[in-house]
Amino acid sequence: MSTFQELGLNADLINAIEDLGFKTPSEVQQKAIPVLLEEERDLVTLAQTGTGKTAAFGFPMLQKIDVGSRTTQGLILSPTRELCLQITNELKNYGKYCKGLNVVAIYGGASVTDQAKQIKKGAQIVVATPGRMKDMINRKLVDISKIQYSVLDEADEMLNMGFYEDITSILSHTPDDKSTWLFSATMPKEVATIARDFMYDPIEITVGNKNESTSQVSHEYYLVNGRDRYLALKRLADANPDIFSVIFCRTKRDTQRVAEKLIEDGYSAGALHGDLSQNQRDLVMKAFRNKQIQMLVATDVAARGIDVDDITHVINYQLPDEIETYTHRSGRTGRAGKTGVSMVIVAKSEVRKIKSIERIIKKQFEKKDIPSGIEICEVQLMSLANKVHNTEVNHEIDTYLNSINALFEDTDKDELIKKFFSVEFTRFFNYYKGAKDLTVSESRESSGSGSGDDVRYFINVGRKDGYDWMSLKDFLKEILELGRDDVFKVDVKDSFSFFNTEKENEKKVLDFFTDFKYNGRYVNVEISENKGRSGRKRSRGGKRRDGGDKSHGERRSRRSDHSENRSERRGRRSDSPKPRRSGSRSGSDRPRRSRRR
Ligand code: AMP
Repeated sequence: MSTFQELGLNADLINAIEDLGFKTPSEVQQKAIPVLLEEERDLVTLAQTGTGKTAAFGFPMLQKIDVGSRTTQGLILSPTRELCLQITNELKNYGKYCKGLNVVAIYGGASVTDQAKQIKKGAQIVVATPGRMKDMINRKLVDISKIQYSVLDEADEMLNMGFYEDITSILSHTPDDKSTWLFSATMPKEVATIARDFMYDPIEITVGNKNESTSQVSHEYYLVNGRDRYLALKRLADANPDIFSVIFCRTKRDTQRVAEKLIEDGYSAGALHGDLSQNQRDLVMKAFRNKQIQMLVATDVAARGIDVDDITHVINYQLPDEIETYTHRSGRTGRAGKTGVSMVIVAKSEVRKIKSIERIIKKQFEKKDIPSGIEICEVQLMSLANKVHNTEVNHEIDTYLNSINALFEDTDKDELIKKFFSVEFTRFFNYYKGAKDLTVSESRESSGSGSGDDVRYFINVGRKDGYDWMSLKDFLKEILELGRDDVFKVDVKDSFSFFNTEKENEKKVLDFFTDFKYNGRYVNVEISENKGRSGRKRSRGGKRRDGGDKSHGERRSRRSDHSENRSERRGRRSDSPKPRRSGSRSGSDRPRRSRRR
């Protein structure tokens, strides 16, 4: 194993490395730094975040640029503002002894004028998000016509986020003879295309296997009924009292909803997604870094660039639409030499995705059961006992000791311990007493249909409206904001069709179609009785109606006296008794976690 000196780094950088406390170069640094220092070549590197890749391109770039010149010589493109700022900070730290160095971050959501002023001072290195960079090029506020080095960091993520055109447009403003260094955690087709089209004979470096997750992370999945997802999440959190986690949801709405429910239930949680203002996101991230938030609920996009090293658990509340994204999610834990756990809460219809992910990450998942109520009580009790055991005595209490002793004069040690622990334990015990088993068996099926956990719907559009099963599925997925596999068993007839979703999406589907007009006509969706192929359907109020192939006219006329029907149905639905969940109480007597600071 080489040292940083042996890699060929100069004294200014070595001094900074010593200050930072880096002892030995990481694998990606060992492989990339010598090549980049010696040759003017393009480079494609497959490496996860947390492997030290910023330094792998940062050190050579800092050593090669001319800090005496004010010309912009290096451009680094990264997918998010957070990552952009993180890279800028790292480069400033690495280059703290490079006199005259000016590294400037360019990203959306902040003042263009301020950023332009900083560039004007002479920035040798610009770190940018593609959108803002393109904007500033168009406004001639930045000149990248003389750069010698360009870095595409987290290329897969930038392409995932739809930056392909921005990137190509930006690169068209750079000289042909520059070197391009591409870093990516995975190598989907799109990244390979960029490498082919924009790079010349690149050196390829792989750290670990392509798409492989870091070896420090173990992968677990928990099979539950879709409707129990949230309860399962709480149990996973309760079974890990010291959890410090990122919880991934698929949409911004689910992210917000799950975070709000967790907060309501007394957990120290926060939401991170694109509908929050930059200021709100900064505050949440600050609280998370300071560990005031134990459970950060995030969308994939917002979670990019979270540079927190000691995340213990990643919880996939829902699997991502693109299974490749799983690698990014799980890579949030197991960083900087630590171990981590990536948990997936799955419904039966998604089990096959687990197999696909296993193929991608080249690792096996362990199927685990959601901890039972009594197991959680035990964990909580022992965690409390350990905490009490390790607590430093606060001698301010000494003054009151006599009074307290007097109160417990007749209580022996065992009794005192029992009473003491009951204060905290009884809450959990009462909540979990008789709680049902949330784990479901995998045996019946894993193909996403007919599991008993899905709902079949009737919809009054069909072939006559130009749909086939694929286009109807796409249409439904898009308007309902559902994932790739969330709409299934689509069966298109002449003037109506059927489709299924998971039970957990039932409310979303019915609510959406309560008053939905498309191309000037009402689109009506009702629950069908028959789970399989076409059959009789049931109105939302529970009445059965004949499910024959009704003409649109007939449906439309039924729809015209609709407002009354609709409100009636709505009323019935909301008045119907909520499903009783064992252990579930109204908000106030749920076990609430004491907030941790
Ligand atoms: P990155 O993969 O660039 O996001 O780096 C992950 C973290 O590892 C950052 O906090 C770096 O400061 C740190 N790091 C980078 N290189 C080394 C090294 N050789 N030894 C120890 N820590 C490092």
